[in-house]
Amino acid sequence: MKTIACDVAIIGAGSAGLAAHRAAVGAEAKTILIEAGPGGTTCARVGCMPSKLLLAAARGARDMRAAAAFGVHGKPRIDGRAVMARVQSERDHFVAAVLKDVAAIPAREKISGHARFTGPTTLTVDDRSLVEARAIVIASGARPAVPPELAQACGERVLTHETVFDLADLPSSLAVIGAGPLGLELAIAFARLGVVTSVFDPKHAVGGTRDPKVRAKVRETLGREIDFHVGVSIQAERNRAGDVAVRWTDETGQKGRRLYQYVLDAAGRPPALDNLDLNMAGLDLDPHGVPLFDPETMRCGKSAVFIAGDADNARPVLHEAARQGALAGTNAAGYPKIERRPRGVDLAVVFTDPDIAFVGEPFDPDKNSERAIGCSDSDGRARVDGRDAGVLRAWAQRADSVIVGGELFGPDVEHLAQLLAWVIQLKMTVSAVLDLPFYHPTMEESLRTCLRDLRGKLG
Ligand SMILES: Cc1cc2nc3c(=O)[nH]c(=O)nc-3n(C[C@H](O)[C@H](O)[C@H](O)COP(=O)(O)OP(=O)(O)OC[C@H]3O[C@@H](n4cnc5c(N)ncnc54)[C@H](O)[C@@H]3O)c2cc1C
Repeated sequence: MKTIACDVAIIGAGSAGLAAHRAAVGAEAKTILIEAGPGGTTCARVGCMPSKLLLAAARGARDMRAAAAFGVHGKPRIDGRAVMARVQSERDHFVAAVLKDVAAIPAREKISGHARFTGPTTLTVDDRSLVEARAIVIASGARPAVPPELAQACGERVLTHETVFDLADLPSSLAVIGAGPLGLELAIAFARLGVVTSVFDPKHAVGGTRDPKVRAKVRETLGREIDFHVGVSIQAERNRAGDVAVRWTDETGQKGRRLYQYVLDAAGRPPALDNLDLNMAGLDLDPHGVPLFDPETMRCGKSAVFIAGDADNARPVLHEAARQGALAGTNAAGYPKIERRPRGVDLAVVFTDPDIAFVGEPFDPDKNSERAIGCSDSDGRARVDGRDAGVLRAWAQRADSVIVGGELFGPDVEHLAQLLAWVIQLKMTVSAVLDLPFYHPTMEESLRTCLRDLRGKLG
C-alpha cells in the first residue's frame, strides 16, 4: 500500500470539502482531497441547482395559468421531455463548472477513492493508499436513506433526489414521501408541471415550519395545488402493472389508497458517516452517530479532526457548507492553533413560491413571554401581482427590542429573509430597522408592516 504524508486530508470534494481545500492550500498546508464518487457536488449535480431548474419550469406553467386573472388567456402545453432535457443540460453546465475547478487542482493534491479512518489521523483510500495527516476534515455530506422495505416493495419505481432529475420525461403521477423542504419543493414543481402529486408524512411540520400560523398558511396555500396527507402512516407496494399502490391511514383511522407511477423518497438525508469507520478515529459521537464538534471551530472534541457541511447534521444548506468548510480547512491547516469564528445567523429558504424561510432563532412557544411577535398577512404589491401575500412573522426580545428571528411564507420571501438575516446579525432593534428606507410598492413593505406590528407589541 502506498503511503502519503500530508498536513491536511479532506474526505469529500463537495462544497464543504472544496472550500476546506481552498482554505488549507491558501494557508500553505500540504493538502490531499479525497473523493469517492464522480464529484461535481451535491448542490450542482443532484441538489440545489437541478431542483431550482425544475422549479423554474414549474413557475413558467404556474404563471401562464395565473395570467387568466389579468385577462390574459392561454393554456400551458407542457412538453415533459423538453422540461427534463433543460433541467439536465443546465445541471450539466453547473456540474462541468465544478469539475473544471477540480481539474485545475494539481494531481498530487487529490485522490479518487473511498476514505476510511484507520486511526485518529490516518486513512486508507480504497485499501490502496494510506494517508497520514496532521489533521483531517470530514466533509462527506449526506445521502438519501431509502427504507429497505420501501426499496424491496417498489424496486426501481422508488426515486430519490439522486435519480429523479435523470428521468427522460415527467412522470404521470408521483407519491412524495416526506413533507420537509426537499419533498415540498419537488412536489410543488411536479404538481405545477401537470404531474398528479401527493405528499405523505407521518408528522405535520410541512416544509419544516414551526410557527403554527405559518404552518397553517403553508398547508392552506400549497394544499390548493398538492394533495397533502400529513399525520399518516403509509405502506407502498407494486401491483401487477408495475405501478405503486400507496395505502395510508390517518390519525383518526381513516384509510386511503391510490396508484402512482413513482414514489419519491424525500424523507431525510442522514450524514454520510456510516462507512468511514469513525470508531477508529476515537471521536465522541452523538446519539445519531455524528461526531460532537464545536460549531465555532468545527473541531471534533479535542482531536485533530474537523467536520463541515451536511456531514455534521447542522444547518444542511449550501452557504453553511462553504462557510464551515473554509473554517475547518483553516483550522486543520493551522492545527494545533485553532481560530474561533462566530456561527452567524441561521438562514434557510424553501423555494415553493410562495417561499418559506427561516431566519435566526426558531419559533419557540416556551419563549413567548420573553419575546414579542409581529405579523403581516397582506401586501399591496402581492395583490397587484395577483399573488397570495402569505404570512410573515418576526420576533424580538422584549428586554431590548432587538430582532432575533422570523418565519416567513410569501412571494419572494427569499429576499426578505436575506434582509432579515442581515439585520439580525447586525443586532438591530425594530425601530432602527423601521428607520431604513422601504421602496413602494415592493414586497419589502410587507416586512415593514410586520415590524410595525412587532413594534406595537413591544409597547
Ligand atoms: C434536492 C436538494 C435541494 C437543495 N436545495 C438547496 C438550496 O436551494 N439551497 C441551499 O442552500 N441548499 C440546498 N440543498 C442543500 C445543499 O445542497 C447541501 O447543503 C450541500 O450541497 C452540502 O455540501 P457538502 O459538501 O456537505 O456535501 P456534498 O456536496 O454531498 O459532498 C460530499 C462529498 O463527499 C464524498 N464522500 C462521501 N463519503 C466519502 C468517503 N468515505 N470518501 C471519499 N469521499 C466521500 C461524496 O461522494 C460527495 O462528493 C439542497 C439539497 C438537496 C438534496
